[in-house]
Amino acid sequence: MTLSDLAFDRDHIWHPYTSMTQPLPCYPVVAASGVRLQLDNGQQLIDGMSSWWAAIHGYNHPRLNQALQAQIEKMSHVMFGGITHPAAIALCRKLVAMTPAALECVFLADSGSVAVEVALKMALQYWQGRGEQRQRFLALRHGYHGDTLAAMSVCDPQNSMHSLYQGYVPSHLFADAPACRFDDEWQEHDADPIEALLSQQASSLAAVILEPIVQGAGGMRFYHPRYLRRVSELCRHYQVLLIADEIATGFGRTGKLFACEHAAITPDILCVGKALTGGTMTLSATLTTRHVADVISEGTAGCFMHGPTFMGNPLACAVATESLAILQENDWPQQVFAIEQQLRTALMPLHSHPQVADVRVLGAIGVVESRHPVNMAAIQHFFVSQGVWLRPFGKLIYLMPPYIIDPAALQQLTSAIAAALDQPALFQ
Ligand code: PMP
Repeated sequence: MTLSDLAFDRDHIWHPYTSMTQPLPCYPVVAASGVRLQLDNGQQLIDGMSSWWAAIHGYNHPRLNQALQAQIEKMSHVMFGGITHPAAIALCRKLVAMTPAALECVFLADSGSVAVEVALKMALQYWQGRGEQRQRFLALRHGYHGDTLAAMSVCDPQNSMHSLYQGYVPSHLFADAPACRFDDEWQEHDADPIEALLSQQASSLAAVILEPIVQGAGGMRFYHPRYLRRVSELCRHYQVLLIADEIATGFGRTGKLFACEHAAITPDILCVGKALTGGTMTLSATLTTRHVADVISEGTAGCFMHGPTFMGNPLACAVATESLAILQENDWPQQVFAIEQQLRTALMPLHSHPQVADVRVLGAIGVVESRHPVNMAAIQHFFVSQGVWLRPFGKLIYLMPPYIIDPAALQQLTSAIAAALDQPALFQ
């Protein structure tokens, strides 16, 4: 890449959550293979982010490339309205087989945020179909569900963007986030706040929406499976739908194929995305039960009112089917377990570091929470100088590497985190 390319990028191209007037530096990546990203100066970086939870099998995977190639030769895209195709059927068969038995009906969408929009719309149409006025959602503080308007409306009301879009973001109900951590002893009263809201508001609630077990972008918090179990029971008791957003947690990341399995629950609606295509391209899915689908379909509209142009894109479906096949063949539980063990050994001792407020590990996710927010540009530069790709936010330095990472590469990532903690200039 030339200097003028980078200048063009800086002057004309928006990156996630950045300013056009004072953008943070962007690193030019020209290729990626296995767990390594290659910068245009030839430097290789070990990837600790899986491109935000997605690239679970690493980059440039020959089987994923082959699946795309084979599909390109048949057709890259065809509209899904009035047409179906083998790529979508194969993927949906797999999704129905992999997810809890009650989730039988699949809606394919474009991204995680859209899968959440679809889930919320399904819940609204379900209650319309039942002739009830239920237009509010109950979500958790510290939750994150995406950046589109409806998804944003169920994100944490404080640390998200509600105040920026006042008047446009519908106001929903929020329960205090669970305080009981994944491996703490379960405290029954942890579910009291959500129970209180459900008992008072059930008749106006279309659904509870939450991220099962791991609250991701809202704080990387791991909560107790009994909390999830209790919420599921409460939803049944008060007859409110439960939407599980497994966009980040799905496909093995927490040590279970889906995080809902930690609590042995089946939601009424399940959202998946991110790792669905092994990080190759954007695709998501919203699954629901036959009952919910039937009520929606027999309601006023006579159908579910959503149908994006690129719905069921054959390329995305083909690569997703292959990614799920690789996941099943690769013994992912062993891969994730090995990463978890190594992360525990390497990161837990950092707890005593004066810069560290907390350390937590679950499945192939490691989090070091610092006492002070990171200095983003400085810490990113430091990590690159150490040969690793990590992108912290706020006080959270976290990693969720591709499942194929080997112990030496993982050690380079954890050592870089330990080294960063010793550099006060990297923190505000
Ligand atoms: N839900 C959760 C739990 C997520 O982590 C994300 C992405 N960070 C989304 C929804 C939104 O997905 P996307 O960025 O693909 O729209």
